[in-house]
Amino acid sequence: MPADTGFDYVRAADTAHALTLLDTPGAKPIAGGTDLVTLLRSGVDRTPLLVDLAALRGQAVRVEPRPPLGGPGIVLDALARMADVAADGWVRATYPVIAQALELSASPQVRNLGTVAGNLAQRTRCPYFRAEAPTPCAKRSPGSGCAARRGVQRGTAVFTADPDCVATHPSDLAVALAALDAEVLVESRAGERTIPVTEFYRPDAETVLRQGDLVTAVAVPPVAAGSRSAYLKVRERASFEFALVSCAAEVVLDGCVIRSARLAVGGVAGHPWRLTEAESALVGLELGAPAVRSAIDTAFAAADPLPGAVFKVELAARAAVRALRAAGSHR
Ligand SMILES: Cc1cc2nc3c(=O)[nH]c(=O)nc-3n(C[C@H](O)[C@H](O)[C@H](O)COP(=O)(O)OP(=O)(O)OC[C@H]3O[C@@H](n4cnc5c(N)ncnc54)[C@H](O)[C@@H]3O)c2cc1C
Ligand code: SF4
Repeated sequence: MPADTGFDYVRAADTAHALTLLDTPGAKPIAGGTDLVTLLRSGVDRTPLLVDLAALRGQAVRVEPRPPLGGPGIVLDALARMADVAADGWVRATYPVIAQALELSASPQVRNLGTVAGNLAQRTRCPYFRAEAPTPCAKRSPGSGCAARRGVQRGTAVFTADPDCVATHPSDLAVALAALDAEVLVESRAGERTIPVTEFYRPDAETVLRQGDLVTAVAVPPVAAGSRSAYLKVRERASFEFALVSCAAEVVLDGCVIRSARLAVGGVAGHPWRLTEAESALVGLELGAPAVRSAIDTAFAAADPLPGAVFKVELAARAAVRALRAAGSHR
């Protein structure tokens, strides 16, 4: 740790204890520590108090009836390890897109420590944000500018809603959960709230969590009968690498014809990007038809990439077509 980084560490006994501790200004929860410890070591993140959540771990995956939605959905414990969720039989059978997104994340060692909430709340991998030497970065030092705009742009967003920051969010799991319309359950001393994963991130790739908030679970609704899903990740090397772009697809077919489709793309924005326009345009098309690509292109019409990220628009559109077809052929 940097010489001037001193902080207290408390292991919370239960949720109420954690919530009290997290009300301390600057206090942060720590779960697996696979992201937070790196940021504390490099001095990017600073906190006066680390609140260890280890004692709060519950059952990794709960299958829950959801009337009137039909079949059961699942609830992922915030402290569930990525590896345990990926290995769960119900997840693999009903929501393969979740298991695949997790298995394509990080390494077995990280997945054995990393948790669901920690994965969703991990911070951007923008190299300028994580640099040890001082670098212009509005996220680290408001008003200092953005080194990525004049530097390496491969990892930057192609849909940008924030004039100060073009970072993307690195979570693969978030992309799968966004396609499934999952919700994040958050508790604080003020009460509980439910945040759709699609609204959990700000345009600058930070979350909407506030001081005192604790993610307690993620609820994934039931899928329709006949639902199939898949996750496709494009990266610079075959393993242990973050996504350049990725796509989570969930589809219900009538023979070869698309009855409904949900698509979310990663690596193109500060949050998982739902291809909503494409989802409606896809209904009624044959899965293998050339018109599928045209339908997907409608969702990229508003893309506005920096010069070094222009290639990501084509890459993401191709990834979406491939993910959709992979989902359609997955049983
Ligand atoms: C080498 C390497 C490669 C990686 N590759 C990938 C990849 O390909 N895909 C991918 O998705 N991820 C990848 N990761 C990221 C990894 O998945 C995350 O570091 C991990 O999921 C974080 O979980 P954690 O429990 O360790 O979080 P921690 O490090 O403990 O915490 C991360 C953040 O979440 C907050 N937090 C934790 N729990 C809660 C809670 N209950 N409520 C509110 N806030 C909370 C913490 O305060 C902190 O800000 C990689 C990491 C490494 C080190
Ligand atoms: S993209 Fe965002 S995180 Fe990266 S340097 Fe610019 S302001 Fe910082």
